Amino acid sequence: MGKQYYCDYCNRSFADGAENRKKHLVSLQHEKMRKAHYDMFKDAATILEENKSKNPCRQFHTAGYCVYESSCKYSHLTPADIMRLHEQAAEQSGIRKSRPDPDIDAWLQTKNLKTDSSSSNSAPSGVSNPVLPPILANIPNLPPSLIPCKPYELVDFGKDAANQWG
Ligand SMILES: [Zn+2]
Ligand SMILES: [Zn+2]
Repeated sequence: MGKQYYCDYCNRSFADGAENRKKHLVSLQHEKMRKAHYDMFKDAATILEENKSKNPCRQFHTAGYCVYESSCKYSHLTPADIMRLHEQAAEQSGIRKSRPDPDIDAWLQTKNLKTDSSSSNSAPSGVSNPVLPPILANIPNLPPSLIPCKPYELVDFGKDAANQWG
């Protein structure tokens, strides 16, 4: 039994061989499946742009089907489809535009605002007080890494770090 060639686009396999492959790769069925595959990755704006130059497919819009399916040279998009694509295109371009470069200062500001308003304990400048879990409190000679640091240590470290690292 010979080797089998599997076509990912068409989701089918057939007896392998140069002749068979060539025949398959130029077949209409394969062309259609390959196009459908890449159409999945097109964005809405591209589909709309392509659709502009097409006339509506009479067959598809009157009978509800068209033998040419996605390879039809006429448009199969309904007004509802086009509306949906316009929304998608607006959304996609909106996402691209409304994503500014990360701004560390703005981020720190919102972070400070949040901790300032949410913490009402005695820790200075919004640093929450580290607490040793009760289960650890009774164990003698805890390794230093497990002992909670004092809030002022955190604050001092913050200042030093700012001075040293700019
Ligand atoms: Zn194929
Ligand atoms: Zn058609």
